[in-house]
Amino acid sequence: MSQNTPNLLEKAEKNLMFITYKPPVVMKKGKGMYLWDTDNRKYLDFVGGWAVTNLGHCHPAVTKAIKKQSAQLICASPGFHNQPQIDFAELLIQNTCMDKVFFTSTGAEANEGAIKLARKYGAVKKNGAFEIITTTNSFHGRTLATMSATGKEQWKNLFEPKVPGFIHVPYNDIQALKSKITPKTVAIMLEPVQGESGAFPAEENYVQEIRKICDEKNILLIFDEVQTGFARTGKLFAYEHYGVEPDIMTLGKGIGNGFPLSALLAKNAFCVFEKGDQGGTYTGQPLAMAAGLAVLKEMLKTDLCAHVLEMGQYLLHKLQEIQPETHISNFRGKGLLLGFDLPKENGEEVVARALKKGLLLNSPRPKSIRLIPPLIVTKKEIEQMIQIFKETILEFL
Ligand SMILES: *Cc1c(COP(=O)(O)O)cnc(C)c1O
Repeated sequence: MSQNTPNLLEKAEKNLMFITYKPPVVMKKGKGMYLWDTDNRKYLDFVGGWAVTNLGHCHPAVTKAIKKQSAQLICASPGFHNQPQIDFAELLIQNTCMDKVFFTSTGAEANEGAIKLARKYGAVKKNGAFEIITTTNSFHGRTLATMSATGKEQWKNLFEPKVPGFIHVPYNDIQALKSKITPKTVAIMLEPVQGESGAFPAEENYVQEIRKICDEKNILLIFDEVQTGFARTGKLFAYEHYGVEPDIMTLGKGIGNGFPLSALLAKNAFCVFEKGDQGGTYTGQPLAMAAGLAVLKEMLKTDLCAHVLEMGQYLLHKLQEIQPETHISNFRGKGLLLGFDLPKENGEEVVARALKKGLLLNSPRPKSIRLIPPLIVTKKEIEQMIQIFKETILEFL
């Protein structure tokens, strides 16, 4: 270790508010599939900035766009239009089933906006209906309303009282969902693949059945695609797997390839905000817009989705190959949002040990590992990952 790293870690502990334990490394540089720390140790990244850096770290086109925009205009105020926002909105709308977009900075904010939009719709179009049905083990963010929407067991008694109006039902259970629908129900909010709970996809007939119910009962279908959007699952957006279209969709993570950016999108019929209902200092912030525009242009230029499907299959195949020795199980997911279970409930230890060997992994639950690498991952890096992971897990058996 260089002299510098312990010093930095000491300062971090002294000055940064505690929120969770972090490994004793300080990241300094990123390029493609790799990160480097302040000791110049190189890490193969299968966390991808937490399903964020879909095009790889410091993608040249994104860096260039941010650089160029930063010399031209960083913030004119949210009270004015700016060109990158107009350009990005047009390209995004052209490539989704949605009609309009509102830009924010984080996934939680986009979901908060979706909740507000649904409640407004209930107020003006559905006799004041306000209840939103979400699923257990879902994740929608860390603001009070999105925490209330989230179906995470550990959060049940946190920061009480919760924002009222959220009802949680088991995922992929259509009867449970139907039984909770009342005249007060205004929306159903769903991740097409539950990300934070460990990469569990919604079943096709479940989603289609929900769409049908929503149409029959004038209930809004909200897809939280913060994690599944931007080619993560092998389609530009995960709804494309299901043959249905949501009424409202939220995007985050991969949308900015690491630049803070998120979006709330809706079909025209549900764009019911009136003057003053929604806003924000950084809505449509030019740097974020330039980054988002560069990301989407880049994704459309290459056939990234086909690559994701191929690499997802390959990774799955390689995991299955080492199953007999490693006793990993319960493979699941879509594209390059994959999860599986460990033989023991020691996810944190496995992640820490892999980090020492130069591989970054994520363990969303003690028993599970989630793989969310940059989508540019190649067979060579998958083989490298499998080798290190196998070595790691055999040490625990
Ligand atoms: C990460 C995530 C969020 C929250 O996004 P933030 O940018 O952390 O606020 C919301 N929904 C889903 C599905 C996510 O994966």
